[in-house]
Amino acid sequence: MTASLTDTRSAEHYARAIAYLPGGVNSPVRAMRSIGRDPIFVDRAEGAELIDVDHNRYVDWVCSWGPLIHGHAHPEIVAAVCDAAQRGTTFGAPTAAEVDLAEEVCRRLPSVQMLRMTSSGTEASMSAIRLARAATGRTKLLKFAGAYHGHVDGLLADAGSGLATQGIPSSPGVPAGVAADTIVIPWNDPAALDEALARHEVAAILAEPYPANMGLVLPAAGFLELLRERADAAGALLVFDEVISGFRVGPGGAQGLAGVIPDLTIMGKVIGGGLPAAAYGGARELMRRIAPEGDVYQAGTLSGNPLAVAAGLTSLALLQGEQPYVKLAATTAALAEGLRDAAAAAGYEGVRIATAPGLLTVFFSAGPVTDYDGARACDLDAYAAWCRGLLARGVYAPASQFEAWFPSLAHTPEHVARTVAAATAAFAEIGA
Ligand SMILES: *Cc1c(COP(=O)(O)O)cnc(C)c1O
Repeated sequence: MTASLTDTRSAEHYARAIAYLPGGVNSPVRAMRSIGRDPIFVDRAEGAELIDVDHNRYVDWVCSWGPLIHGHAHPEIVAAVCDAAQRGTTFGAPTAAEVDLAEEVCRRLPSVQMLRMTSSGTEASMSAIRLARAATGRTKLLKFAGAYHGHVDGLLADAGSGLATQGIPSSPGVPAGVAADTIVIPWNDPAALDEALARHEVAAILAEPYPANMGLVLPAAGFLELLRERADAAGALLVFDEVISGFRVGPGGAQGLAGVIPDLTIMGKVIGGGLPAAAYGGARELMRRIAPEGDVYQAGTLSGNPLAVAAGLTSLALLQGEQPYVKLAATTAALAEGLRDAAAAAGYEGVRIATAPGLLTVFFSAGPVTDYDGARACDLDAYAAWCRGLLARGVYAPASQFEAWFPSLAHTPEHVARTVAAATAAFAEIGA
């Protein structure tokens, strides 16, 4: 197995790209800066494999960061999109397929009786918090450090100094007053939760039930149940951001697995089958507040776009019953076991592997990671070197310690074996 790939064409595109696109990309993590290398430009992809413009072929564990649970260019999804496109790409008027998709989602997610579609997860979370604020007549929000809910101004907030204080902007351009309405507390910390709720009247507790944007950091036993109980006691809504976990970790998302029913659910990624679609939904009574049925305004030119709806519907249709989830869980488990063996074979002890069905993170940490501080304490240089080593051996893993791997139904035991072989060599290369 070769440990270096040519990158002449990617380098040429990148040189051109940095003149016209900030950092040469349209979304930051693609630039691969946190692993200290230049981005790879993609030519095409099929199933679980990505081919770059230099004809290098990779096992793709990123899969567009979550939407591609069936892998790239699944023939049925491609056919559905082509068929939809031939009948018109957008109408700005209702279609039957949108209703089919809404019905399908409501059938799967226990908490959703009615939904509104948007084009991105960011829009869906922005709209869900608007609804939560309207429904409660409150302004403040409670979120968890390390959780990501899209680049909504008010949610780009870091913890202020001291626990349970008002958030501070995590990006220039976010008004301090907007970030101050967001309270940021550590994940898996019941005492911080109680302190925050004692100090602030919040409209919503907003959580990724299976946080996967600081790497995968699962909830401690009972923590999601506690969020439900405390939200009720505080008169706040519980909002689950299932943009990643929905339709991925199980047929009913993380809420289905945990048996904890949120008031509102934010969906994205898998629901669009690889095209731009997202949604937020909840109890009918709550969702009826949305215009034009209710007074909470929210709209979108391309919301419920026919191509995206066709891709989403086909993607969900291919996820019928338990069987796909059993397969996805088995692939994830085999990958986790293989990567543990790879570290052991290379005598590399400093990794902890977190998994949920269809999600995995290799934390470069000697101890278990239970919150954002733990994730940030990882050996980021070692992760970067290992990840570069994987890429050089044809394995495309997330170019950040803080992102999850996304196994898909297109990954085979052979893809896992190829990955484990590359991982063993990459671990050996970075040293014990
Ligand atoms: C990706 C993501 C979002 C944002 O979705 P976009 O479509 O990128 O705007 C929101 N929440 C979570 C949990 C995500 O992973």
